[in-house]
Amino acid sequence: MRRIMAVVVFLVVAAPAWAWHPVGHRIIAAMAYDQLSGKTRMRVDELIRRHPDYAKFTEGVKGNARHMARWAFIHAAAWGDDIKGDSRFYDDTRRDAKPTRTLAPFPDMRRHTNWHYVNLYFSPDGVPLPKPPAPSAQTELPKLIAGLESDLGWYHLVWLLHVEGDVHQPLHCTARLTKHLRDRAGRPTSDLGGNLVVVDGYTNLHAVWDDLLGVTRDEAYIDWMAKRLKKEHRKPPALSLDPNVWIEEGSALAREKAYAFPADVGTRDNPFRRTPAYEAGSLAVAHERAALAAYRLAAVLSSKLP
Ligand SMILES: [Zn+2]
Repeated sequence: MRRIMAVVVFLVVAAPAWAWHPVGHRIIAAMAYDQLSGKTRMRVDELIRRHPDYAKFTEGVKGNARHMARWAFIHAAAWGDDIKGDSRFYDDTRRDAKPTRTLAPFPDMRRHTNWHYVNLYFSPDGVPLPKPPAPSAQTELPKLIAGLESDLGWYHLVWLLHVEGDVHQPLHCTARLTKHLRDRAGRPTSDLGGNLVVVDGYTNLHAVWDDLLGVTRDEAYIDWMAKRLKKEHRKPPALSLDPNVWIEEGSALAREKAYAFPADVGTRDNPFRRTPAYEAGSLAVAHERAALAAYRLAAVLSSKLP
C-alpha cells in the first residue's frame, strides 16, 4: 500500500508524459496515409467520419474533401492523448476513478492511459524485475488490429493510429530499475519509461525523446517532415506486422540508445547530460522509428482494410 502511494505521489509531482508530442503522431499518420491505396483510403476515411469527434479532427482545416479527409486522419492520430484533458472521459487507472456517463456510440469513457506503453522492465545493476503491468500497448495492439473490421472499427482505428505510433518511441517499450531510484519505503522503483530520469537538470529522458520529431504544429511542417522521413528511410522489403516484434525492437533500442549512461546517472544529484553525439544519435533513432511506424501502419491498414 505504501509503495502504491509513493508511486502515486511521484506521478503527481513528475506529471509524466506518455506519448510522442502530438506532432510526432501527426507526422507518422501523414506519411502512412500517403502510402495507402485509393480503396484503403476510402475505407479509413469512412471509419474516421463515423467517429463522434470527427468535427474536432477537421476543425480549422480548409480545402477540398480529399484534403479534409487526409487531415482528419492525421489529427485523429493524437486523439488518444487529446482525451487526457477531456471531461467526458475519466482516468480509469486512478484509484479514486469516478466513471463518467457513457455517451453513445463510445464503448466506454475510459481514457485508457495505460494503453500507450508497455513496461518491459530492465535493470543495469541487478534489481529484481517485476512483471510488466497489464493492460498495456502489448496486450491491446492485437485487439485494436483485430477490431478494425468490427462495428467499432472507427474506435479501434483511432486508437490503433495512436498506440502503433507510441510503441515506436523506444521509451514506450521499457522502464529502468536501478538501486539509485527508490520509493518512499526505500525500495527500488521503476523510472516510468524515463519520466523520472533527470536530464540536463531541467527535463526528463522521456520528454526529451517524445519531442525528437519536433513540436511545430502547422500543416506545412508536418508535411515537410513526413516527406523528409520518406526520403531518409526507404520502405524496407519486409515489414513485420506483429506488435510484439515492434515492442521488442523498441525495448532493445531504448536500453542501447536511450539509456546510454550508467545506472547511477539520471538522478537529481547526478543528472544525465546530453552530449552532441547523444543528441545526433537519438534524433537518428527517432527518425528511423517514425518512418518504420508509418510504413508498418500503412501495411497493417492495407492488409485489414484492402
Ligand atoms: Zn500516447
